[in-house]
Amino acid sequence: MTVFVTGGAGFIGSAVVRDLLLKDGADVVTIDKLTYAGSLENLRDVADHPRHHFHQADICDGAAIKALFQQYQPTAVFHLAAESHVDRSIDGPADFIQTNLVGTFTMLQSALEYWRDLADGDRKNAFRFLHVSTDEVYGELGADGLFSETSSYEPSSPYSASKAGSDHLARAWQRTYGLPVIVTNCSNNYGPYQFPEKLLPVVILNALAGRELPVYGTGENIRDWLFVHDHSTALRLVRGKGRVGETYMIGGRAERTNIDMVRSICRILDPYFPEKAPHENLIRFVTDRPGHDARYAVDCRKIEQELGWRQSVTLEEGLKQTVGWYLDNLDWVEAVGKGVAAERRGLESRGL
Ligand code: NAD
Repeated sequence: MTVFVTGGAGFIGSAVVRDLLLKDGADVVTIDKLTYAGSLENLRDVADHPRHHFHQADICDGAAIKALFQQYQPTAVFHLAAESHVDRSIDGPADFIQTNLVGTFTMLQSALEYWRDLADGDRKNAFRFLHVSTDEVYGELGADGLFSETSSYEPSSPYSASKAGSDHLARAWQRTYGLPVIVTNCSNNYGPYQFPEKLLPVVILNALAGRELPVYGTGENIRDWLFVHDHSTALRLVRGKGRVGETYMIGGRAERTNIDMVRSICRILDPYFPEKAPHENLIRFVTDRPGHDARYAVDCRKIEQELGWRQSVTLEEGLKQTVGWYLDNLDWVEAVGKGVAAERRGLESRGL
């Protein structure tokens, strides 16, 4: 089995690459442009694996993507490459439109041309295009209710709007052309190798350095959290057993306010560095993000009941593992440091 993973040098993609190689025994072709968010450091333990092939390519480059389809003849595409940071999409939406919309179109069209040319039979029937998306496409929830596979699309940010558009393209390529596409929409991921611009690594690394811990608004926005390897397990299960043309919600059943998440991390760090405790003293509330959605939460009963997916790591356990991983891997933080420095400059320019 040869599979493509676009965005495989990013946070979630690198977990998927690792699991496909080491748990599923697949041949994996990682396709990644290596933007500021992508790094071969995220794949350092599997980069030289004999079944791993890395190609630095832009998913908007149709000629390069078509050539890769011809060269490797994959049986599946895990499409994760995207611009993924909401704050960056507010400051500069153009890259989000390009990669998330034009890039997804290019991947779908290249996959369609390849898939159409396959001889009828097992290979053609087995092929799947997995479009990996977010729960942010549905907009915001009030105090009650959950997003489900039938929720209407109401994206708020340039990021979520571009992902919503990419979901519609994926669905259209299935409905109109018959490409065997499945869409997944997942809640917030956390875990090792998350680029240090997202909430959890920012909090861990700032606390270590004794810097302030910026929290938007009053910190009451609610997100649902899932450990990255449980997302990877779900994606691999959907690829094998999911129904073509369907959407599957993936979530952690772990809703927390942002301020609760920050306080939990502080409490995990306190016994490591008792001389700096309580780390909560570093929390600083900063001007809220424009258009900041109040609450996201997903109903993941469909993937549980149809495919038997279960998450394996509780939020409390996953947070401890994640903090421990960052403390043990400060060399990784150093290695992706160029991007971190750039992010810090960005935060400073925003008065954070
Ligand atoms: P990430 O930013 O860590 O990684 C994205 C990767 O895509 C990087 O390696 C980057 O180099 C690559 N990339 C960007 N533009 C590219 C291009 N034009 N061509 C080729 N490669 C390109 O993102 P992530 O958090 O790992 O998210 C991966 C996917 O999962 C995204 O599609 C995102 O929308 C989705 N998702 C993320 C979350 C989350 O909480 N992080 C939740 C649900 C869904």
